[in-house]
Amino acid sequence: MQSTYRSPWLSDDLEAFTDSVRRFIRQRLVPHEDRWRAQHQGDRSAWLEVGEMGMILPDVPSEYGGADGSPAHTAVVLQELQYAGVTGVGVSLSHIVGHYILDSGTAEQKQHWLPKIASGEVICSIAMTEPGTGSDLQSIRTRAVRKGEHYVINGSKTFISNGQLSDLVLLVARTDTEAKGSKGVSLILVDTRTEGFRRGKCLDKMGLPAQDTSEMFFDDCVVPADCVLGGVEGQGFYQLMQQLPFERAACAIQCMADMERALDLTLEYTKERKAFGKSIFEFQNTRFTLADVKATVTASRTFCDLIIQRWVDGTLDSPLASMGKFWLSERQAEVLDKCLQFFGGYGYMNEYPIARMYADARVARIYGGSNEIQRELVARSL
Ligand SMILES: Cc1cc2nc3c(=O)[nH]c(=O)nc-3n(C[C@H](O)[C@H](O)[C@H](O)COP(=O)(O)OP(=O)(O)OC[C@H]3O[C@@H](n4cnc5c(N)ncnc54)[C@H](O)[C@@H]3O)c2cc1C
Repeated sequence: MQSTYRSPWLSDDLEAFTDSVRRFIRQRLVPHEDRWRAQHQGDRSAWLEVGEMGMILPDVPSEYGGADGSPAHTAVVLQELQYAGVTGVGVSLSHIVGHYILDSGTAEQKQHWLPKIASGEVICSIAMTEPGTGSDLQSIRTRAVRKGEHYVINGSKTFISNGQLSDLVLLVARTDTEAKGSKGVSLILVDTRTEGFRRGKCLDKMGLPAQDTSEMFFDDCVVPADCVLGGVEGQGFYQLMQQLPFERAACAIQCMADMERALDLTLEYTKERKAFGKSIFEFQNTRFTLADVKATVTASRTFCDLIIQRWVDGTLDSPLASMGKFWLSERQAEVLDKCLQFFGGYGYMNEYPIARMYADARVARIYGGSNEIQRELVARSL
């Protein structure tokens, strides 16, 4: 990606890991992306291959099926998938759910789920958002009512990534209907084979067509009481606060790789395409704009590397992750808009990666907690 700068967290071992992941993605995933975009989901067989490569839970101990790596391995996987334009295998969701279970789950939950998540046999989703509430998560209405050794779940969720494919849903539900706000919320591990669980439609989006973003319904869905993450009710918000920074860091890393790809594609195109007897790159407007883009990409990379380094060191805090999420997704939007312009009409054609990237990227400022919410979180720390 960047020829003159090596990220400080990249070791020789990680470079070798990057090479093998990159080769695998180019050979085994990229050729299917067009079909996945047409069918609105990836193939299960690809998930198994990605699992076999150790790319789903690279930073989880091998006793749970992981690859004994560090968050740096996760960063490599996320950025390589993004740089290659592969969106049909939503490993980041399985990665996040795996970490909820690793950090907060009971011994049985870890043993039961983690090896299957790591191998790609179990695909995960996280169900927070509801038709009536997204940013204001404390207002969720999905209820899980304890009845003896079970919980009976009722409610609906929407915009859930991996919604059609997921085998395991990490569900945010209210287990104490009396408690107000963040109290009384629990995370529940719902096996999607459970009676009363129903997938709604795969939603028609302006971008990311290869992702099966969906509705989900829970109608008297009965799960055993030991499906509560960590085995103790009412810990949901605390558990979310522990993991959300990593989800935001992952989003920042993906935005970063997208910017790097956009710049590379644009340099290649503008040096080839001719107008008025010279390459588009030779116009001063192109050169100056791309110099600006290069500066933005370079500054963004150093910020992104700080986030990755903190993640590796175990010192990534919530404000830094939120800053990374909102700032890098906004730089991504600027960079893509500037780059797309140099492709002229071809930049508007879905056949060209830059057009897809532009549409796919719009959601980065909305999901994972909107950028307004990220600013609110940062402001609270000031
Ligand atoms: C493609 C896609 C994939 C998604 N994947 C998932 C998933 O896997 N799991 C999941 O649970 N959710 C998922 N979401 C949902 C996503 O996280 C929410 O859309 C997002 O959190 C915003 O919630 P909302 O849509 O309800 O908007 P609202 O909360 O209604 O917000 C509307 C607008 O008001 C602004 N706003 C709200 N509150 C404030 C405030 N206090 N101050 C300032 N501005 C405010 C918001 O920033 C936004 O601009 C996904 C969404 C999309 C589009």
